[in-house]
This record gives sequence, structure tokens and C-alpha cells, in this order.
Amino acid sequence: MTAIGMTACSHQPTPKAEGGETSFNYVVDQFADLQVLRYQVPGFEELSLRQKQLLYHLSEAALMGRDILADQNCRYNLPIRRTLEAVYTSYKGNREDEQFKALETYLKRVWFSNGIHHHYAEDKILPTFSQEFFADCVRQVEPAKLPLREGETVDQLLAELSPVIFDPTVLSKRTVQSGDVDLIQASANNYYEGDLTQAEVDAFYTKMKAGQDTLRPISYGLNSRLAKVDGRVFEKVWKVGGLYTQAIERIVSELQQALPFAENEAQKAIIEKLIEYYQTGDLKTFDAYSVLWVEDTASDVDFVNGFIETYGDPLGRKASWESTVNFINKRATERTRIISSNAQWFEDHSPIDPRFRKPEVKGVSAKVITVAMLGGDCYPATPIGINLPNADWIRRDHGSKSVTIENITEAYDKASQGSGLSKEFMWSEKEIEQSKKYGFQTDNLHTDLHECLGHGSGQLLPGVDPDALGAYSSTLEEARADLFGLYYMADPKMVELGLLPSADAYETAYYHYMMNGLMTQLVRIEPGKNVEEAHMRNRQLIARWAYEQGRSENVVELKQRDGKTFVVVHDYARLRQLFARLLAEVQRIKSEGDFEAGRKLVEDYGVRVDSALHEEVLARYKKLNLAPYKGFVNPRMTLVKDDAGAVIDVSLDYTEGYAEQMLRYSRDYSFLPSYNE
Ligand code: ZN
Repeated sequence: MTAIGMTACSHQPTPKAEGGETSFNYVVDQFADLQVLRYQVPGFEELSLRQKQLLYHLSEAALMGRDILADQNCRYNLPIRRTLEAVYTSYKGNREDEQFKALETYLKRVWFSNGIHHHYAEDKILPTFSQEFFADCVRQVEPAKLPLREGETVDQLLAELSPVIFDPTVLSKRTVQSGDVDLIQASANNYYEGDLTQAEVDAFYTKMKAGQDTLRPISYGLNSRLAKVDGRVFEKVWKVGGLYTQAIERIVSELQQALPFAENEAQKAIIEKLIEYYQTGDLKTFDAYSVLWVEDTASDVDFVNGFIETYGDPLGRKASWESTVNFINKRATERTRIISSNAQWFEDHSPIDPRFRKPEVKGVSAKVITVAMLGGDCYPATPIGINLPNADWIRRDHGSKSVTIENITEAYDKASQGSGLSKEFMWSEKEIEQSKKYGFQTDNLHTDLHECLGHGSGQLLPGVDPDALGAYSSTLEEARADLFGLYYMADPKMVELGLLPSADAYETAYYHYMMNGLMTQLVRIEPGKNVEEAHMRNRQLIARWAYEQGRSENVVELKQRDGKTFVVVHDYARLRQLFARLLAEVQRIKSEGDFEAGRKLVEDYGVRVDSALHEEVLARYKKLNLAPYKGFVNPRMTLVKDDAGAVIDVSLDYTEGYAEQMLRYSRDYSFLPSYNE
């Protein structure tokens, strides 16, 4: 089966300190806890017409699967989104009315999350308009515009959707990752249908896994919903002719149209294999596709399109649909080329037990890319780095591809300019200055190290089950990759290789990490709640652990000034040693499959929140009027034709607004029925 986040990674950005100057208008919209930005696609103009057309069709394919993700996230997402859109576009009353404004914000949040649950916190978003107002609005919509089932009345629709929207106890959390509950039954997502229990799911896949090739295990369950109907348990496979066929057929059609523009035979074979996989749903074909994909390092244009990441399934088996379309940033890729060509050196000098080191590091292919389109689970909230494929055996035998998305990190950096975050939370001018000077560079470098080297480093001892760490595996894997990056960030090798300009530049990365892990990332957590998401747990785990372990020597201090708490790092060299110690321990836990030690580490340091500090951070952050989460609108990509209808160029337009884009996507890229059984 797939390695649960073991090697998978969607490296999410953290609240940022400010960056440099800008003229492009990055900020598109802001509401609730969200800010919507736009990104530029530098270098697009210089591509050949053939490459642009390839990007165009891959981009269309990236947008075709939007509804799949919505339905995967919760079975009511599509009818709710469509009902809200019908109200939003036909509302005749005062659009400045407080109730309507609240409905608009709710719809914007539903768009952003691809559903009714918070995209990151996973909790159901509670509307701030009344149920009566909603019912009134819906009744005024022309019924033909509503997602009514055959013979269903508007009142019946309201009776079905209202509790899902308004009752906090109904489908309250998208994915429940931990706790003393049946994770399948407690989760509101749509990866499991019918009255399935966790034990039944486990039994189903244990049986399916029995007798399989353990050297090249198939990612069973990756591309299907598991259903229980009349007592029978079976998979509904996502493929042409299967579940979601209406959208998948469109994706396939665009991939077919992309074929004539492939840059080379290898890339053509990749696209053909992906089409075959969508047509058959055969996971062996998916593996074959992944092998072809990871081995193509010659093409400039690249893409991800499929059922990839398994964060949304509490059992880490079912993958959400996602897509990114991109091309290489050759100048910045020089940086990752240096890192990956020294991969063996980094592995050999890693501060872990030599038994856990990889004797031979295989094909870490790393590059910096420019995205041209984001889709599915990468839109509008997007990762800034990606490392694929996820199947451990493919990584072992064929290596992995690791990317840093620099036009996205650049947009984050530019948009954060003047946010006031550094001034509010950093201890002194020294940290603020260092951050301005080195912040963008060290953030990118840490992402590179995390993706290119961190996830790929180390090995399991023979016979250790890759799934041994269970629900804690994602957090521990992210911690391992982060620690690997943190440790090397401070190594003289960085300056020697020309990756950092000076021996003290790493300090800003350490300071950011500690400030974020101990304090500022808490802005993403609601009062009274614990840390849930794997990347956040990982950051708190590392920062808390280092803080606690270094306490007797005062390595890092939480210092008070004017009633505010600040992180002060007194000894950066010692902090590096602490990171090294924790890296050794996390690697041991993974290599030996030590579930109990892993559980304890995560539960002791990564989960619980200091409520007084949390309250303080939230209050300080609120005054800055910032949004802790960010996402992106895509550029609008259009074919330019001459009078005879021949394509002469592909143009990018950056002027589209957020609601405008979402409504266009709902109009032009929506193919699934409202209810998908
Ligand atoms: Zn990662």
C-alpha cells in the first residue's frame, strides 16, 4: 500500500515575515481567515508555441477534475456549492445586506475549501447568516437552477441541506486523524460509503493485500471509494466508466489533445500511460506511469494529474484528486542541482546511526519550477514544494522527483511585504534585519533540503513494516525531513557550495522556525483546539522539543516584554546540536518502526497547545488584520487564433477576480452530478 505521508509531501507555507518591493498586484481578496493572491508566470512568453500548447491542454486537464475533489471531501459539497451559487448569482435583494454579505463570505470559504469543511483545520465552517435567510433566498431561486434530484421539491432540498450547513453536530469534521473513536465513522469525507467501520475497512484491505508482491506492493485502495451496500463491501473505482467518469472522460480528452505537443517520446509515453490508467483504473498501470514520470528528467514542461496524496483519508489509503502544470526554472534549478549532486555527501554525514543511512542514495532529481496552472487539491491553497511519487518501492528503485515552486514562494514573499508580522513577533531589530536580508533565500533553501534530501534520506531496517507508525507516520516523516534541512542549513558546506551567502545566514531560518513552531503558527488554531494537521504538529514538535531540551542551558528562551512573549535564541550552535539529536531519534523511530516512541514524541510535544500563549498570539495577530491562510487564483489561459482558426499563441491574463474565477470554473468545468453514488 502507499506509504502514508512517509515519502509524500505537500510542503505548506507558514505565516511569513515580510519580503521585498513589488509592483505587480498580488492580493486579490481577503475574507474570514483567508487571503487570496495571484501568482505570475515568468518565462511563459519565452516558451515555444508547441510548449505553450502543451501547457494549455494540460492546464485544461487540471481544471476538469475540480468537482471530483469537492465530492471526495464530503458528499453534500456539490449540492451545497451549487445551491449557494444559484442564490449568489440570482439574488435580487440588497447585496450590501449583512445577511447576504455573510452568505457571500460563506460561499467564498466553501470555494476555497472545496467544500464545507475548513481546508486546513478540517472542521465544518459555520455560517453567520440565519437558516431562515438561507431558506428565503433558496425559495426565490428559479427551481431549474437548483441541484434538485428527480422529483425533489425545494422544501425537500432545504430539509436535506440545512442541517448539513447549520447543525454543528452533523458531519462536523472532514477527516478525524486521531482520538479514541472509529476514524472512518467519525470522518465526514466521502472516501467511505455506507455504514463502514474502521475494522471492516482494515479487514477488506488486509485480505486484498494478502499474498501480494511485497517487493513492489500495489497501492491498494488509492483510486476508489470503499462502499458497503446491503452488507456487501466493495470498491467503486474512479475511472472512465466508473465513479466520476463524467469528469475523468474530460481529463482524458484533454490529455489526448496534449499528446501531439509532447516535447519528446518519453513525455508522450507518460501521457499515454496516464490515459490508460484513467481508462482502466488499474493501479499497476498507475505504478508504471509513475515510473515513467519519475524517470523523465529531460522535459522542460511537467505536470501532476491524478489521485495522489492521501492526507484526506484517516487511514492514509485513498487519494484526493489534484493537478499542477509547470515548467522548469532553469536559473533557480542550479541551486537544487548542487544539492542533489551532493546528496551522497549529505547522507554520509547525517547525524544519525550509520545503520539507518542509505549506503547509496538513488536519483534525487530536484528542480525549481514555475507553475502555470493549479487544480484539484492544489487549488486555491497550494503546496510550495512537492516530492513524488509516493510509492516507497518506486522511490527505492527509480528515485523521486522533488520540486520547489518558486513563483508561488515569491508571491507569498511579495504579498507579505509590510504585513507587520516581523515587527510584532520578532525580538529585536537584529532578527528583523536578518530576516529581510536572508529570509526568502533561507526559506527556499530549507524547502529544497526538505524535499530533495530530507524525505529521501535514511532507510528502514530489514523487515520493518513501512506502515508501523500508523496515524503518527505523517507527522514524524515531516519532522524527519524538516530536521534534515535544519541541521544542514547551519553546515559550513552551505557557504562552501555557494547556497548561502554567509556563515550566519542560517540563523534567520532557525529563528523563523522556532518562532513559528512555538508561537506564530498558533494563529491557525481556534481557541481551545489542539494542533491536528501533520505539518503543524511536526513544527510544534520540533520547536517545543528543542525549547524544552535546551531549557537548562537557556538555548532558547520565551521572554516577556511589555506583556508580550517573544522567542529569543541565545545559542544557535547549541540549537543545531539539539536538532541533530532529535533527527537521530526520529530516524531511529522510523527505521525501527518504534510506534510507541513515535506516539509519545508526537503526543508530548506536537499536539497540545499552551492556552495562555495561544490567546496572546491570537490577540496580537488580530490587531495586524492579516489572514493566516493563503491561496491563489490562476491566470486565465487562452488560445490565440488567426483568421483561419490556427493557433498562433497562448495568452495569460492576470486580471480575473476570485469570485469571478470560481463562478467561471463552476460554469465551464463542472461535469459531475450533484450526488455521486
Ligand atoms: Zn514534507
